[in-house]
Order: sequence, then C-alpha cells, then structure tokens
Amino acid sequence: MRILLVEDEPTLAAQIHASLVDAGYAVDTAANGVDGWHLGAEEPYDAVVLDLGLPGLDGLSVLRRWRAAQVNLPVLILTARDSWTDKVEGIDAGADDYLAKPFRMEELLARIRALIRRAHGMAAPELACGPVRLNARTGVVTVDGAAVVLTAHEFKVLDYLMHHPGAIISKAVLTEHIYAQDFDRDSNTIEVFVGRLRRKLGVDVIETVRGQGYRLRPPTA
Ligand code: CA
Repeated sequence: MRILLVEDEPTLAAQIHASLVDAGYAVDTAANGVDGWHLGAEEPYDAVVLDLGLPGLDGLSVLRRWRAAQVNLPVLILTARDSWTDKVEGIDAGADDYLAKPFRMEELLARIRALIRRAHGMAAPELACGPVRLNARTGVVTVDGAAVVLTAHEFKVLDYLMHHPGAIISKAVLTEHIYAQDFDRDSNTIEVFVGRLRRKLGVDVIETVRGQGYRLRPPTA
C-alpha cells in the first residue's frame, strides 16, 4: 500500500514518514500544498495524510481541488488541536477522517489501516483467503494458523492482493502500490516476490492470469 504524506513541518514529517515505512507502507512526501496536490492528482495512492496548515496551497484547498477533480483517495487530515472548525470544514471538504495534533503514531497508523479497509469495503482488521490470514495491525501472516515469515516486499505484495480479492491485478499496478516514487522500480521483481510467496504460503491462492496479472482466490477443494 502506498501513502502520500503532505506535511510542511520537517521534524513531524520525518517522524510520520518513519512510522509509516516501519509499518510496511511505501511513502511519498510533499512539504507544500502545490506539490501535494499534484502528487495526489497523478499517482495512485491508497491513502493520504494531509496537514491543513501548508505553504503554497492550504490543505483544505488541496482537498477541495482533489474532490472537484474526482480524485477519490481516502484522506486523513491533521488539524490543530482545538480547532473544531478545522474538523468540520475538513470533513465537509471531503476528508474521510481527522486527527488533531499532537497525536500518537499508533493512533495515526490505526486510522490509516481503517481508512484503507473501508475503501475496500472491509470491516474486519484481519484479512482472510482460504487458510491464509493477514493481520494488518501486527503484520503477521498465517496459513492454517501457523505463522509464515515474509520479507517486507513479499508482505506488501500479499497485503495488496488480499485487499483486492478476486480482482486481476497487473504487475504494473502492484509495482505502483508497493514502491515509493523515488524507488528504482522493476516490475520483473514482482514475479520473484510472487514466486517466493507461493513457496512460503504453500497453498495455491495466487493465480496467474496469463498476460494480465495475478488474482487472489481461495484454493478450490
Ligand atoms: Ca503545517
């Protein structure tokens, strides 16, 4: 899953970036509203963390422009602590959730997970496909209850597929959602990750759809 972080305060931006990367997200950052607006309009993010007080173009304006342009990314806004007007205006402008500064990183991460789940019509925090289960909070993957150790990239690929069960996901789409923008991308590595995932999971849940991509399906009995 790939996240856009728009925050102008360097220390806070670095802390949020580090927490998101630790949690397994690919993260792009922008330090002003104009850059943030462009990235959100052009790149396929799974969620956005948007500060409201930004140089160049304020966060509410960024959000209104995205929504006016049918950019429907899930957006979490960061508001000043006591500003109820920020929260109301932000939600009315199309924010999906808000978090008042200062906040705990654990709460930010929980809200991001919930935003991504809801965007995919999922209510439960644990994703399941046949015997394979993925807990987005703990990052633990199990097959028939036994834990499977995955690398960060293998986890990212499985996490994305498990949020899109039954859909055909191309290598290009997987590449866009597991790497940040500045990463040197190579879609051939997706095949490598999928091959390793199949071996580690030991069950046939990732189907190759020839010429199109991959599809997650429960194994047929
Ligand atoms: Ca700010």
